[in-house]
Amino acid sequence: MSEIVVKLAVQGAHQAFRLAEEKVAAARADLGEGARIGFPETAFYLPAAYALLGLEARTLSDGASLLAEAKKLLPPLSSDRPPPLGDAVNAGLSTLLSEEVLMAVRYLRKEEPQESCNGFFTDTILRTLGIMLVDGRMPGVAAILGAAPDPATASGIVREFQKKNILVVVGGSVGKVSVIDQLKEAGVDLGWDNYVVPFGRDTPSVVYALNFALRAALTFGGLKKGQRSECLAYCKERVNACVIALGALDELKVANAAAALVLGCPVIADTDVPEILSSPLTVHESLISVKNHSEIAARAITARGIKIKVKEIPLPVPYAAAFEGERVRKEDLRAQAGSKYSKAFEYLFQGDLGKIADGRVSLHGPDLDAVAPAGSFPLGIVVRVAGRKMEKDFESILERQVHTFINGAMGVMHMGQRDMVWLRIGKKAFASGFRLRHLGEIVVARLHNDFGAIIDKAEVEIFTLPADVEREIKSAKAAYAARDARVAGMTDESVETFYSCTLCQSFAPNHVCIISPERLGLCGAYNWLDGKAAHEINPRGPNQPVAKGKTVEPAIGQWEGINAFVDEASHRALKRFSIYSMLVDPMTSCGCFECILAVIPEANGVMAVNREFTAITPCGMDFVTLAGMVGGGVQTPGFLGVGRLYLTSKKFISGDGGLRRLVWLTKELKEFLREDLIKRGQEIGIPGFIDMIADETVAADSASLLEFLKKAHHPALSLPPLF
Ligand code: SF4
Ligand code: ZN
Repeated sequence: MSEIVVKLAVQGAHQAFRLAEEKVAAARADLGEGARIGFPETAFYLPAAYALLGLEARTLSDGASLLAEAKKLLPPLSSDRPPPLGDAVNAGLSTLLSEEVLMAVRYLRKEEPQESCNGFFTDTILRTLGIMLVDGRMPGVAAILGAAPDPATASGIVREFQKKNILVVVGGSVGKVSVIDQLKEAGVDLGWDNYVVPFGRDTPSVVYALNFALRAALTFGGLKKGQRSECLAYCKERVNACVIALGALDELKVANAAAALVLGCPVIADTDVPEILSSPLTVHESLISVKNHSEIAARAITARGIKIKVKEIPLPVPYAAAFEGERVRKEDLRAQAGSKYSKAFEYLFQGDLGKIADGRVSLHGPDLDAVAPAGSFPLGIVVRVAGRKMEKDFESILERQVHTFINGAMGVMHMGQRDMVWLRIGKKAFASGFRLRHLGEIVVARLHNDFGAIIDKAEVEIFTLPADVEREIKSAKAAYAARDARVAGMTDESVETFYSCTLCQSFAPNHVCIISPERLGLCGAYNWLDGKAAHEINPRGPNQPVAKGKTVEPAIGQWEGINAFVDEASHRALKRFSIYSMLVDPMTSCGCFECILAVIPEANGVMAVNREFTAITPCGMDFVTLAGMVGGGVQTPGFLGVGRLYLTSKKFISGDGGLRRLVWLTKELKEFLREDLIKRGQEIGIPGFIDMIADETVAADSASLLEFLKKAHHPALSLPPLF
């Protein structure tokens, strides 16, 4: 590695250390040793210290011991020998640790997050992004540090990444100019919905991006605190991140570049830097100089080895997943359909292969031009598909995609599905020439692109005359009802084959989900039909049919075929899986679970908490702490990550006593599942069961929970002991 780079990195590491040391000393003097430090909503304390040193830093005095470790790593400022690679690594590691303490003390002092910045990336964000990263919606993350020559250049680079659906985190500055403000000036919308997130305006705040990568290793790689080399290897192999350094570099920036390299992230600079084309730290190039800004994104993507699945649809507006979360506000509204404004629906069905004109989009009725400004119109989107591998069962899966497909168009907002959709088209999109037929064109293009393995032909009809919409919605409703009846009748006994999902192995290498008709994947995104369809689309992909085989334990749901598959797919880490028990050989959790179940021994039952709930639960832990225990693809009896809908399945922990064990759940979950919970209560012969389940409004801890359950005569109290 180039001598000059290492020398600068070492100087920068010393600088980072001094900054942190001063900050900690001042805080200790003002607030005392015991003042608590940490970041919001994380189970990992100071994540880099936790991952690299195994330290759980809680107080300023812990912060000081942490700095002592950072100091030990600091290479000497001057030495006669040529600086070896080891010095660069140690400088990077030391910088990470120092900056983390620095930022934690700033949080203590309420100096973070900086104005209009996100600051520390919480664990919730990590897990939400995790699923996007595994299912390919987001192929990677780019951290941009510094400032571009001008706002237009900054926005140009970001747009290139956005087009490829890569998350961009931005921060730092050059002189007094930050890329954050340049993007604002260029009119780029910042925030999670747009996949462009500002972290902070100075160099040390880049540590938020770096410790995010380390937490991915801990969360999804099932790694333990202090497993330094494993965490670093995981980042290098599996975290698709790169760093773009814009503008002049100083020592501190170079030290952070070294930290990025230690995590396996290549660094792309737009200035003259001594390039490092290969090193043991990164998979491809380590440090490259790219002076043409329009090439930066492309070079970064190849340097990191990020695989992009590009789809270009000819449209009058930009199209990318980055626009999926974008809203069309009232002031920007040109026309809308659905919600409370008009009748609107979407219906996709399997047609006759011979009768479909592939690619045809027909509009029956007036187009957007006929709608008054900000007015509404009735809308029916009817999609007919056919293909040799298409099955009737896949209709609902493909139909659900229409939402995602349409939302990718900039200036178009879509919500809901079936006959509960809401579509808004913005003024700008309209002015650029966006019309209703484009909706059909998007759907046809994406169906071919994403589902080409099962679909050979697709055709779309769009209806905007009230009478047509009334007529078509009737047949659509009949089809929805028939589908629901079929899914409701599907039981684990009615099929011989379950489906596996190992999508999350890219993060949690030994994790396997087994998906049965009555138990969906823990992320909530995959049910049995989805697994089946995904297998047809990609026969060698992460969803494989698993024949149940001979029954081993009917009550807790163990079969020979499933156990053998799990053994193999978990690389021999797991021998047995119970589909219906959270106590005996429970399924593993990767980190994407919608909810966590936890046993409450005092209540002889279990509680369920969803990801969105931030308070402490009656088991004494909050979601984040629970998630830290459950995730990573290991079996943790007594705890289980599950999808929301599993709670009302007839097979809900049926091996452990079933629904009767459910003693507490969050108000939000209760409301979300209300209808089904009432129905399930009747089915188990306890009609008022829903009201016997406690929530945070009546029980925040185990004592008040027990009191409530006794008063409500909850059935769990009279069930046989859980253990
Ligand atoms: Fe990951 Fe399981 Fe969801 Fe598949 S079903 S994406 S393995 S959580
Ligand atoms: Zn997962």
